[in-house]
Amino acid sequence: MSESVPDVTPVNPRSPRDEKQPQRDRIIFFDTTLRDGEQSPGCVMHGNEKLRMAHQIAALGVDVLEAGFAIASEGDSESIRNIAREVRGPIIASLARAKREDIEAAARSIEPAPRARIHTFLSTSDLHLAAKLKITRAQALDQIAEMVALARTYCDDIEFSPEDATRTDPDFLVKVCEAAIQAGATTLNLPDTVGYCLPQDYAEMFRMVRERVPGIENIVLSAHCHDDLGLAVANSLAAIQAGVRQVECAINGIGERAGNASLEELAAIFVTRRDQLPFRHNIVMNQLYPTSQMLATCISFGAAPNKAIVGANAFAHAAGIHQHGVIANPLTYEIMTPQSVGVPHDSLVLGKHSGRRALEHRLIELGHHLTHAELDAVYHRFTQLADRKKTIYDQDLIGLLKPEPKVSAIA
Ligand code: MN
Repeated sequence: MSESVPDVTPVNPRSPRDEKQPQRDRIIFFDTTLRDGEQSPGCVMHGNEKLRMAHQIAALGVDVLEAGFAIASEGDSESIRNIAREVRGPIIASLARAKREDIEAAARSIEPAPRARIHTFLSTSDLHLAAKLKITRAQALDQIAEMVALARTYCDDIEFSPEDATRTDPDFLVKVCEAAIQAGATTLNLPDTVGYCLPQDYAEMFRMVRERVPGIENIVLSAHCHDDLGLAVANSLAAIQAGVRQVECAINGIGERAGNASLEELAAIFVTRRDQLPFRHNIVMNQLYPTSQMLATCISFGAAPNKAIVGANAFAHAAGIHQHGVIANPLTYEIMTPQSVGVPHDSLVLGKHSGRRALEHRLIELGHHLTHAELDAVYHRFTQLADRKKTIYDQDLIGLLKPEPKVSAIA
């Protein structure tokens, strides 16, 4: 905790946000909702949904917004370009394999952004090199050096990720990091691609590279964790305590398989436990819940009801003893207020006795302003649902906004 931390190079020295903040105290939030998040089943978003989400993610105050994987499809590259053209605030990034055509596609798609990043990656574990890429370690080093240098010809802000870093031989990982830094990488992200690490292992890997890689003090180290063992947030924190200053995360923790580290959980930890983790960041806390809700309207599921921070039950007190305590003093059972993370204060319970005005009121709180006709249609579906279900959750209401309600996580 009290370990010394690196004095990292600012992401963008011209950014007014950065100028005010000493870098060693600052956590860079890198949001990958629209890339790693969108890659998972049920999370596909269309271009207009991605653009709408990107505006909201910018309003949330993230520092870097990974908008997609330009080479993946024509639609993806077009949507990155639209985001790069319209969305202001965050650095706009595109993912690219360490291949010429990927890097060129990424460079084209981020070109309209005033602040842009190419995020390129290559697997480095022996398993991935042999089974997937069918190249040797020496070939991998050459490819990393060549492709990072190529990316630098298009953009000054280059992130390199050795995929499967946590299962890469440590001596080889040191060489990989060195090659990427020498070729011009400005951020080094060491992902726990398969979500296998324990917090102490992940921290140890970062301490090891910080000790052994020349020039590492001049770049930003980044964590990218998956939640296969439910450790994505814990591993990200362990990495921060080992000197990492960028965390890659997603709204509602969506992402490949069990998902990425949850952005809202990390942000809430830094605010609630400032006593132990005294870091600055730019997240606008009361935008957490609206952003989570908006994502639920774009993909096929919302946050689970018991999800920390943004779940429907995250601030619900059902037991009589708890209710009594909270009424007397919220601090008895609440470590943060619902309002601080943007959960509407008014928690009226909607059911079959609720009227149109109550429904409209709640939908406006959730950020949905409907026309008269739309409200009529949603109200009709609401009364049908209220006949079948005792409690109508916010997530159910969001499902009702679409003519054919999708299966919600609550069902
Ligand atoms: Mn990932």
